[in-house]
Amino acid sequence: MKVLVTGGAGYIGSHTVRQLVKTGADVTVLDNMVYGHAGALVDPEVKLVKGDLGDASVVYPLLMKGNFDAVIHFAAFINVGESVQNPLKYYMNNIARPLVLLGAMQAAGVKRFVFSSTCATYGVPTQIPIPETEKQDPINPYGSSKYMLEKVCRDCDRAWGLKSVFLRYFNASGCSEDGLIGEDHEPETHLIPNILLTLTGEKEYIEVFGTDYDTPDGTCIRDYIHVNDLADAHLKAVDYLMKGGATECFNLGTGLGLSVREILETAEKVTGKKIPVRYGPRREGDPPRLIANPKKAKEILGWEARCKDAGAIVETAWKWMTGPRRGHY
Ligand code: UDP
Repeated sequence: MKVLVTGGAGYIGSHTVRQLVKTGADVTVLDNMVYGHAGALVDPEVKLVKGDLGDASVVYPLLMKGNFDAVIHFAAFINVGESVQNPLKYYMNNIARPLVLLGAMQAAGVKRFVFSSTCATYGVPTQIPIPETEKQDPINPYGSSKYMLEKVCRDCDRAWGLKSVFLRYFNASGCSEDGLIGEDHEPETHLIPNILLTLTGEKEYIEVFGTDYDTPDGTCIRDYIHVNDLADAHLKAVDYLMKGGATECFNLGTGLGLSVREILETAEKVTGKKIPVRYGPRREGDPPRLIANPKKAKEILGWEARCKDAGAIVETAWKWMTGPRRGHY
């Protein structure tokens, strides 16, 4: 099987590429290397094409000659706050550029597409845990950009038979168990790596964004899902499409919710260190609770999160954070 992975040198992309290679798939990564890391592609058989998915002079020849069975599309900007400040950057990168990729797929007759979507497309949900039938009503440009690309894909299905799987991630976290690849964002905005950066001395303290939410301890609740479980869902989504599956969306989470305070306690337990914390105001655009109902992914894809222990997630993140590869790949 031949698979093109856009953004394959990024965090979730590189974990997925490693699992794909293990299945014997022939993997090509298309990455503009703005946020990607060449060292995240640890398997020598993976082909890296350095280029932008919005560059027709790169993607058309690649798709026309590649004979790909499927495309897995990760490449996107992911910073919610930045998307509020600079929406056009997000609409350009997360919608306009992928249109070029989809055009090349249409021209080449590649009709299987696995797309990294997000629970941010639900905005502030009316049901917890959130089923896929929840209304999509994003509250920031990042969520809107993902929602709009889902709609584009549905229109392409009607027009030329593109079959897509929208994987709506909850909170991707953790790193590969062997510590070889991990999360290396610049700037880092996510909770778990930011907590751990206070212990490596790279951050003075972690600021907790809001303690007055309507939750048991006043801090936001999220569904933290290990990156290797996410990666596994991509493999299952490709299989599903290869077997003739129709366009579908799936929530990817554990179904369990943890508060910011609970994650802090977990990190203290795992590392055996006291974390320097300051309590600040709410961050704009943060819904109080996001927890997946992952039933549909189990029923249709046969996928379920294997790691349901936040301690194990934090442990892999800590191993990466204190290992020799971070910052050097
Ligand atoms: N958070 C926090 N301090 C930080 C980063 C995050 O209190 O430095 C909180 C954030 O408000 C949210 C949760 O941690 O409630 C998870 O945030 P993250 O940015 O990791 O993921 P998101 O839920 O925004 O996708």
